[in-house]
Amino acid sequence: MNGHCICGAVTYQLTDAPLFVQCCHCSWCQRETGSAFAVNALIETDRVVIDGPLREREVPTASGKGQVLVQCAQCGCTILSHYAGAGRKMAFLRTGTLDDPGALPPAIHIYVGTRRPWVILPDGVPASDAYYRAADHWSPAALARRQALR
Ligand SMILES: [Zn+2]
Ligand SMILES: [Zn+2]
Repeated sequence: MNGHCICGAVTYQLTDAPLFVQCCHCSWCQRETGSAFAVNALIETDRVVIDGPLREREVPTASGKGQVLVQCAQCGCTILSHYAGAGRKMAFLRTGTLDDPGALPPAIHIYVGTRRPWVILPDGVPASDAYYRAADHWSPAALARRQALR
C-alpha cells in the first residue's frame, strides 16, 4: 500500500499489513484532525518507508506523556504519529493519507462516548467507551509482532 501528503512532497509505502486499524472518537483526536475522529493503522515504524522532507511536532495528550506528529515539512500534513505508550517503534499511521483511504476500515471504534452525535457507528464492529486490551481484539499474529518490538 502507498500513500502521500497533501502537496505530494512526501510519499510512503507500507511494506507489511498493519497490525490493527482503530477509529478514535476522543476529543483530542477531534481537535488534532479538526474533524470528528482519527483513523489510525498501527504498524511497525520500520515498515513504513517514507520518501520526502519530514518534520516533527510534539503535542500534548490526555495521558500527559505527549505525542510526536511526523509531518510533511512542506505542507504540514500529518502522516503518522508516535505515542509515548507504544514508543517510537510503533507508528500510528493516518489512513486518510493512503492513496486508497478506504482500504483499511477500522476494526474497532474507541472513546465512542465523546463521538459526534451525528456519527452513526456501524453494526458488527466493536465499540468501546475507552481504550481496549489488544489481547481482546488483535489477531495472534499481530500480538506476536507487537511483542517482537519490545
Ligand atoms: Zn506535503
Ligand atoms: Zn483519540
